Amino acid sequence: MGSGCAGLTAAIYCARANLKPLVLQGHEPGGQLSLTTLVENFPGFPEGIQGPELIDNMRRQAEKFGTNYMTGFVTAAKLGAHPFELTVDGKEIRTRTLIIASGASARWLGLPSEQALIGHGVSSCATCDGFFFSGKEIVVIGGGDSAMEEALFLTRFATKVTIIHRRDHFRASKIMYERAKAHPKIHFVTNTVVEEVHDVEKKEVTALTLRNVHTGNRHVFPTSAMFLGIGHIPNTKAFAGQLDLDEDGYIRTRDYVFTGIPGVFACGDVQDRRYRQAISAAGTGCMAALEAEKFLEEQGR
Ligand code: NAP
Repeated sequence: MGSGCAGLTAAIYCARANLKPLVLQGHEPGGQLSLTTLVENFPGFPEGIQGPELIDNMRRQAEKFGTNYMTGFVTAAKLGAHPFELTVDGKEIRTRTLIIASGASARWLGLPSEQALIGHGVSSCATCDGFFFSGKEIVVIGGGDSAMEEALFLTRFATKVTIIHRRDHFRASKIMYERAKAHPKIHFVTNTVVEEVHDVEKKEVTALTLRNVHTGNRHVFPTSAMFLGIGHIPNTKAFAGQLDLDEDGYIRTRDYVFTGIPGVFACGDVQDRRYRQAISAAGTGCMAALEAEKFLEEQGR
């Protein structure tokens, strides 16, 4: 379940073990890599590779060894009996083993201008896209640890990083907040929300329209990029009450990929709130596939 880096890596391994995997592709086929541009930190590509191309390569590689694909959204799951049952767009699917690689979706502000500029100066991943804004001024949205971490990371490239937060109280841990506050390149604008991202016509970020939530005053704030650090939402709705989820909905695993149900494995961002990298998702995808194979062997399949 899931066609991002973790799911496709699991599919490559399962297919090469002759397990005839079916990959379910949901609302965001290809996962977060399909939303990014140049990926420069995936080993094996010294010149970098475009995120969508990397995902397409993985998809074709899995297909070559016998992976089948199905587009559809998992709305319900019955994991209490074996084989497991999934409801995919109203259709029932039964499976002897399930690898959950449904990822976590970045939370966006939801502005049409923001959505139009994703990959053109609007990003939810500082590690992926920060480098492209070397020598420029950057904005980070959010008041949690992710926003502080992104802002601190982006100081490596940017001449100035402005953290814009909708309140003046920060959810971030004290240490992260203090670190950001002490950094000479980081500035804060509080009690402020973004109303519009410019310039959709030019297909690049040039400025933001900001509004102070107390005074209602608006002003245009020039910037070259807007990074969102307002959290992620793990795609685990269908498993609530059946799998052990943490307080934010991430699947709790032990020994990397084991869930509490034998035969159900989880890999990638749906169980990893710490690293969230393509390479670590691929790594756990591989582990989940090897464990699924072992599980089926033990079941005498
Ligand atoms: P978070 O703690 O939930 O913070 C999200 C922030 O985004 C909050 O400040 C929130 O504002 C703001 N926000 C949410 N929706 C918004 C919207 N629509 N418009 C504007 N602002 C919005 O999420 P997170 O920072 O991703 O952290 C998640 C968890 O991972 C936390 O437990 C965190 O400690 C952990 N984490 C740790 C590290 C680290 O230690 N290095 C790094 C990253 C994450 P409000 O405060 O007003 O709600």
